[in-house]
Amino acid sequence: MRTDLIKVAELLREAHRVLFITGAGVSAESGIPTFRGRTGFFRQGLTEEGIPFEEALSATNFHKSPQVSWRYFAQLERNLRGKSPNPAHRVIADLETSGRRVCVATQNIDGLHQLAGSKYVIELHGNLFRLCCTACDYQASDVTFDSLPDLPLCPACDDVLRPDIVLYEEPLPGDALNQFLAEQAQGFDLVFSVGTTSLFQYVVEPVLLAVRRHVPTIEINPEETPISDAVSFRLRGRAGLILVELATALYERELA
Ligand code: NAD
Ligand code: ZN
Repeated sequence: MRTDLIKVAELLREAHRVLFITGAGVSAESGIPTFRGRTGFFRQGLTEEGIPFEEALSATNFHKSPQVSWRYFAQLERNLRGKSPNPAHRVIADLETSGRRVCVATQNIDGLHQLAGSKYVIELHGNLFRLCCTACDYQASDVTFDSLPDLPLCPACDDVLRPDIVLYEEPLPGDALNQFLAEQAQGFDLVFSVGTTSLFQYVVEPVLLAVRRHVPTIEINPEETPISDAVSFRLRGRAGLILVELATALYERELA
């Protein structure tokens, strides 16, 4: 693995445009449980209502019983609240400082990449701490859920509020998707996939596109995923640990 780390550090040193696709695993070392991992949220079984968590967090359920969905939005928020960026977020943010353009396309809804200082973050699944109205244009950012009633209503029109996240069955937000496509159209010199199970086409395809264009690709994950066989380098292990080792190898190269 050390040899691979050094090769990736060399590639990073030369790269001008770098893409990081990230998932729940990048925030695991901040103490935020993943959904599908061994200790994941979905491993807890069914909700009190006897339905799978995915269903409780689906668009159909939200329209049918918003109060039930809100119970699990609140549970998600308790997992995310007060958490800080970990070394993985910080290394990714620091890579921007050497004049590289580092685009982060994240499936996370925790805002930790921005807190770490990353400037070009595309939130593919939205942000849990931003609320929006289901009927009007009302929006609120950095909301603490503690002060909210069981079913929060819009102060402007009294309709139901929701977190600005993508629920199961919903399409990606158009602006995030367009931004991601525009970045991809410009191309990248290096593509990383970090801490994601790579189940969705829109996070798999940019990696496969890079492979077709002979752009080096790197996966950082302790486990195998559907893209493991396609990437140029598989760095097995925790994101924080590996990215710090990579930053150290890069720093050694920059001093040499
Ligand atoms: P996932 O929970 O399905 O999978 C997590 C992946 O991270 C797995 O492949 C696992 O092997 C890997 N992993 C676990 N610990 C790791 C570590 N320390 N370093 C590197 N990799 C590690 O996550 P997903 O594929 O991102 O999909 C779940 C969806 O749920 C996301 O799209 C997101 O919207 C939401 N979610 C968000 C958060 C968050 O915002 N922090 C947390 C959980 C789930
Ligand atoms: Zn409203």
